Amino acid sequence: MPWVYILHLERPLAHARHYSGCTAELQNRLKAHALGQGSAFTRHLAKIGIEWKLGALFQVKEDLNTIRGVERILKDQHHAPDYCPLCRSRPARLPGATVVPVSAAPFPTDSRGIKEAAASASSIRNRKDSHEQLHDPGLPNLQDQQ
Ligand SMILES: [Zn+2]
Repeated sequence: MPWVYILHLERPLAHARHYSGCTAELQNRLKAHALGQGSAFTRHLAKIGIEWKLGALFQVKEDLNTIRGVERILKDQHHAPDYCPLCRSRPARLPGATVVPVSAAPFPTDSRGIKEAAASASSIRNRKDSHEQLHDPGLPNLQDQQ
């Protein structure tokens, strides 16, 4: 099942405090975002040094209409905070999505922690291997296509 995620920015970029995306390969996608190799938006965050935390994580039924519906809700910057546990102590339910606790992820989920882990891993691995790991063969990021 694909993952839908909300990144909670430590400081806003223009009006944006959140970024949402969809991926089949969560760890690789978050790493790409943290290292400035993800979407245009998160590349920009990395470039200007805005750090983020994974705010919310959902598993969504593998159905394009459901995924698009969920992304449409989250892409609206007025609505995203309602579903972000870092913004709301009781986040709203997202139709068609199952909430997964961010703390259950067995890898770092904040941009600083991901960069630290990648830096220590690249001192062991060679450059080519770590580049291949960042390639995300999963679902296209629907947000990127619009
Ligand atoms: Zn938030």
